[in-house]
Amino acid sequence: VQRRQHVAIAQQELPDLSGKTDKVIMFVGPCSIESEEQFAQAAECFHDMGLSWIRGGTFKPRTNPHSFQGLGLPGVKIMHDVCAHYHLKSLTEVLDTEMCETVAKQVDGLQIGARNFQNFSLLRRMGKVAAEHNSLVMFKRGFAGTIDEWLAATSYITNEGAKNVMLCERGLRTFETATRFTLDISAVPVLHKLSTFPVCVDVSHAAGQRDLVPSLAKAALAAGADAIMIEVHPNPHVALSDSAQQLTLEQFKRLFDELSGIAHAL
Ligand code: PEP
Ligand code: MN
Repeated sequence: VQRRQHVAIAQQELPDLSGKTDKVIMFVGPCSIESEEQFAQAAECFHDMGLSWIRGGTFKPRTNPHSFQGLGLPGVKIMHDVCAHYHLKSLTEVLDTEMCETVAKQVDGLQIGARNFQNFSLLRRMGKVAAEHNSLVMFKRGFAGTIDEWLAATSYITNEGAKNVMLCERGLRTFETATRFTLDISAVPVLHKLSTFPVCVDVSHAAGQRDLVPSLAKAALAAGADAIMIEVHPNPHVALSDSAQQLTLEQFKRLFDELSGIAHAL
């Protein structure tokens, strides 16, 4: 309760390992960067709202190799240029050890996706590169990973010197099929009890459907999340990935207003 007293939705700073930021950080943006126009439209909106981060997939870990794989390095360049223009910090996933350094030079935050939860060579390289570039590492929980395994895997990153690591709960694979994954909201207080890492909750990949996103985001906030990740796209219906779960810019603005009201009330 104490640590949530002055919470506000808005973000100016990188959180540090203390996990004691008084702002809930929003990591919002499209599932995939699809074009400069698409990404700039989202960036302009978030900039106008006073947000400081944007997310966007450039290397996509798709289940099916025939699905859109992301723009790759040209997408990273779009992210860099658009974020420089709108003064936003950037977060994107890296899939391979050999890409860490190149991507770290162009973005502020490096994401390790759920599918690479125990890719220890990637975790090590990411930790080293993040330490050298002072990058944020957003470390997502694997969808069958226990919290003990998660914290152990996190040590692969921090042992290489990375100082700025955020853990991201994004839902587990369970027997339930009504949602894409089952969001483990308990992970937030459990991680706060067991560690000092700030905790993010990715509500979009857990929900799988946009109409469920607001409820999960409010739950994350109430549970004490330090950050919330939401996929937002200027035109979700034509999105090249995760079309069903992405909010429109207008839907996100409405949700953001609601969350801001709740945060001040907590
Ligand atoms: C993502 O955030 O773009 C993503 C692919 O998420 P996850 O690794 O949690 O599935
Ligand atoms: Mn996605």
